[in-house]
Amino acid sequence: MADEPQHTHVHSHQEEENKRYCWVCYASDEDDETAPWVKPCKCRGTTKWVHQSCLQRWVDEKQKGNSTVKVNCPQCGVEYFIAFPNMGQLMLFLDRVDAFIYKVCPFVAAGVVVGSIYWTAVTYGAITVMQVVGYQEGMGVMEQADPLVLLVGLPTIPVFLILGKMVRWEDKVLRLVRAAVSRLPFLKYILPAFRHEEGGGGNGGGGGGGASTTAVISDPVNATRVLCGALSLPTLATIAGRLFFPSAQDNLTRTLLGGASFLVVKGLFKVYYKQQQHVMQSRRKIIDYPQDPPPPPPTATTTPHSSSSDLPPSSPDDNTQEGGEG
Ligand SMILES: [Zn+2]
Ligand SMILES: [Zn+2]
Repeated sequence: MADEPQHTHVHSHQEEENKRYCWVCYASDEDDETAPWVKPCKCRGTTKWVHQSCLQRWVDEKQKGNSTVKVNCPQCGVEYFIAFPNMGQLMLFLDRVDAFIYKVCPFVAAGVVVGSIYWTAVTYGAITVMQVVGYQEGMGVMEQADPLVLLVGLPTIPVFLILGKMVRWEDKVLRLVRAAVSRLPFLKYILPAFRHEEGGGGNGGGGGGGASTTAVISDPVNATRVLCGALSLPTLATIAGRLFFPSAQDNLTRTLLGGASFLVVKGLFKVYYKQQQHVMQSRRKIIDYPQDPPPPPPTATTTPHSSSSDLPPSSPDDNTQEGGEG
């Protein structure tokens, strides 16, 4: 008699243990007696059991339509083992083919892209050779050369042009000229663009009061600009050679002379442009907000070319622009 209540207590405790609750919909056996259950992981207690259909829905949500995504239990981290019915040999084969294509396609696409770039480079190299030494001579050279040499040599032409374009020799020249001017002041009369260079500080604060002390003009390498500049160099060199060296003994010499002179002239414009930019930046001034009644429109003081008004007249603005584009 005394054991009776204890027995019922144990019984009810066991019942409580065996009672299944779905951790997705919180329903128990009593709520739905027909729904199939599954215990898919190492979890014990309240998250041990789950409805088959509830878990399928949850897996669908995690996979988002991609049935190859692995899904783990959010509590114990065990990966759910999802079994598929055997659909026969053909289905197995098609499944493998599908997976293979899925894996291989990125490599094929990358190969096509790399191959296209390579053949574009070969074509560019061949065109450049004919452009530089002349059509007949270029064809002759390439017909006599080893095909392997051509396949390796021609695509390196655009590569070297681009690498050469990355060398910023104008910056070095600019720094050298600045250093020379600050050391030898008489150069200021030969190079009027550098007359604002005051000592080694690099800030041309001598001209106007309250100029900024650090006139830093960021000049990042622009990929498309480098590409266009490098690949148009042979054409520009050919044009310059025909214009300025028509009496050169052969096409190669003429193009080399034209290219060299083009690079030098363009470089000098660039040095000048950068120096003027530097001067402009170091002599800039932030102006007062106009009070009412407003003074005459201060457009002249806000345009970038205002500071060039007190520069020597031997430097027209269109030259400055041209030098910057090249
Ligand atoms: Zn459920
Ligand atoms: Zn679990």
